[in-house]
Amino acid sequence: MERIPNAGPWVTDKEVAYVADAARNAWYTSANLYNDRFEEAFARYVGVRHAISVPHCTSAIHLALMTLGIGPGDEVIVPELTWIATAAPITQVGATTIFADVDPVTLCISADALAKCISPRTRAVIPVDLYGGMPDWEALRRVANQYGVTLIEDAAESIGSEYHGVKAGALGQIGVFSFHGSKTLTTGEGGMFVTDDSQLYERAQFLRDHGRSPSDRSLFNTEVACKYKMSAMQAAFGLAQLERIDELVGRKREMFSWYQEELGEIPGLTLNAEPDGVFNSLWMTNVMLDPGFGLTKDDIRPRFAENAIDYRPLFHPLSSLPAFEKRPEAAAARERNRVAYHLSPLGVNLPSSFRLTREHVARVGRVLREALAATGKLHEPAKAGG
Ligand SMILES: *Cc1c(COP(=O)(O)O)cnc(C)c1O
Repeated sequence: MERIPNAGPWVTDKEVAYVADAARNAWYTSANLYNDRFEEAFARYVGVRHAISVPHCTSAIHLALMTLGIGPGDEVIVPELTWIATAAPITQVGATTIFADVDPVTLCISADALAKCISPRTRAVIPVDLYGGMPDWEALRRVANQYGVTLIEDAAESIGSEYHGVKAGALGQIGVFSFHGSKTLTTGEGGMFVTDDSQLYERAQFLRDHGRSPSDRSLFNTEVACKYKMSAMQAAFGLAQLERIDELVGRKREMFSWYQEELGEIPGLTLNAEPDGVFNSLWMTNVMLDPGFGLTKDDIRPRFAENAIDYRPLFHPLSSLPAFEKRPEAAAARERNRVAYHLSPLGVNLPSSFRLTREHVARVGRVLREALAATGKLHEPAKAGG
């Protein structure tokens, strides 16, 4: 049986040609050519003034926190259900991480939960556009504005998504993207920091090159900062991918439609949400199991393994991870964040790589139906013609 990978890129001759050109020519006075082109095209695509290419999204988040001057004594709020990269840089700058509950439909941070987490020490919140889906940005903005809290949008998984016509990445004061090999647009490893705010942009440019201005030629550093740059070869790869972004997002949505055909009519299974006004770029299809089945994501794992399907769970609540669990903020979160703790065991990410075929989706569908049928609680409605 051919193994079905969970995630992976779509690479064409265009990427290879751009990288080969960068390898030969992006040196001397042309050293920044591909980075400049990638950043300009990216900013235009997202609809913001500035973009800075960096080694990965984790560094973009670290850079965002440094740019905002966040450090010891400050608090930053993150959703419970996300990859640890959203939160890890908060610890790195010496600030305190506060874990907020999520909305049961979008699985993204909820505005009510955010409001409950705000204290006089809160400096920023990092909402995550989970799997390409969108939180209620309007409500989040209302809360953030009321308390003077900065919004950093973690758009690592959501390039191409839109909220009421605004592209993912442009919804906060700063947006960050990941181009990890698993993401919709990849550069192998890579990331982008975007902002519409020229002051934040200037400060980030200064901090990401060892505390000196981008025009410095005298090796004269005025602060200790960091070194976060992307190579020209990666930028060339990213530019080629960006020129194909509609095709990439279109394929993600097509794959999701296959899952809808396969699973959409099974009562008790819920796929990714796309509320009114949202365009979901669907980086990763996620299925939620109704608790009535008595199944959890752990029960699906061996069935996927037997059928050569890569297993990937919905994120565990961050406050439950050994990395955070001993902190008092994590203990408080475990008491408070009911929705995340209820839903996390019930979610399974379904294979969403660019190698996915309709036949793969049929196999995933069959295995899931078998798992549900084994509970004796599956009553599939008769399909027309089926
Ligand atoms: C992938 C991802 C990141 C981290 O991206 P890297 O480029 O690997 O640093 C951050 N946040 C979310 C939500 C992600 O999915």
